[in-house]
Amino acid sequence: MEGVQMGLAPAGAEFDAVLHEQLVDRRERLQIAKSRSGFDPDFSRLLGEVDAALMRFEKGTYGLCEECHDPIEPERLLADPLMRVCLGDLTDRQRQALENDLELASAIQIGLLPKTDLASEFWQVDFHYQPASIVSGDYCDVIAHDGELYFILGDVSGKGMAASLLMSNLHAMFHSLVPLGLPMHELMGRANHLFCESTLANQYATLIFGKVNSKGEVEICNAGHLPPIVVKSGENVTLDAAGLPLGLFCDSNFAASCFRLEAGETLLLYTDGVTEANDHTEEEFGIARLLESINGSYAGEPAGLVRNCVSAVETFRGRTPPNDDLTLMAVKFAGAQN
Ligand SMILES: [Zn+2]
Repeated sequence: MEGVQMGLAPAGAEFDAVLHEQLVDRRERLQIAKSRSGFDPDFSRLLGEVDAALMRFEKGTYGLCEECHDPIEPERLLADPLMRVCLGDLTDRQRQALENDLELASAIQIGLLPKTDLASEFWQVDFHYQPASIVSGDYCDVIAHDGELYFILGDVSGKGMAASLLMSNLHAMFHSLVPLGLPMHELMGRANHLFCESTLANQYATLIFGKVNSKGEVEICNAGHLPPIVVKSGENVTLDAAGLPLGLFCDSNFAASCFRLEAGETLLLYTDGVTEANDHTEEEFGIARLLESINGSYAGEPAGLVRNCVSAVETFRGRTPPNDDLTLMAVKFAGAQN
């Protein structure tokens, strides 16, 4: 998600307080472990590092790179509060270890994507998932349950490793919640509550949670996400209703809206990596170009629709590198059950 400073961006005092608290907590745990194990050189070394970090807090130099004195990337500090140098000042060995971590995270994330053979006699699904760097903060999922197809597309605040962790958090939550078979707005309310409790105050996700049954009846909850598009034989329709993003307020209520897909119609979901893709003049791709790239795709397969949109974005962007994670999902209703 691009545009707003959020995610794990340093929220000043709040961010520092979280890290300080973590360090104090770690110090206590280390001391307990040390007292139980007798002499362990590793505990003593770590304790020394934690004390040094707490000392940097007192001196006001905590979070600054020891080489160049610039601030250390906040998401790295949050992952490891003992971090002492910025990304640019890592040694080759440290850089290699970081790359290995990212590759592992990427493999885990790809493993969380829906299967690609998502057709049944009622619906066909296709998606395109393209991280701006190695890992993505977009969440794309499809869960079949009790003869209905649940689909989810979301965009987590921030980028990179931290955003990808929140994405896997969402994945685990929805896979646990959907089998409960509760009404959509209630599932969404629970997801929001859980997400709120498991994230920091400045982290949230915009998200669409929907389901379609064998009659083409769709129920959809939109938590502050971009409007889905219904691809029809005539003019395409955008579904504008949107609520608050997930994770903003613990007791938000979510409303589900209902409509019906006719046989052959497709619901298209996308993240802002699509509409906010920039060309070299920093103009945005925008919803109008997206709608244009959909025209003529009605009769085709979801894979063709998704491909048309992606290639329109790529043509528009030209050589400008992607500025955000890009995800599209198309859910086509094949025909009603008699
Ligand atoms: Zn540095």
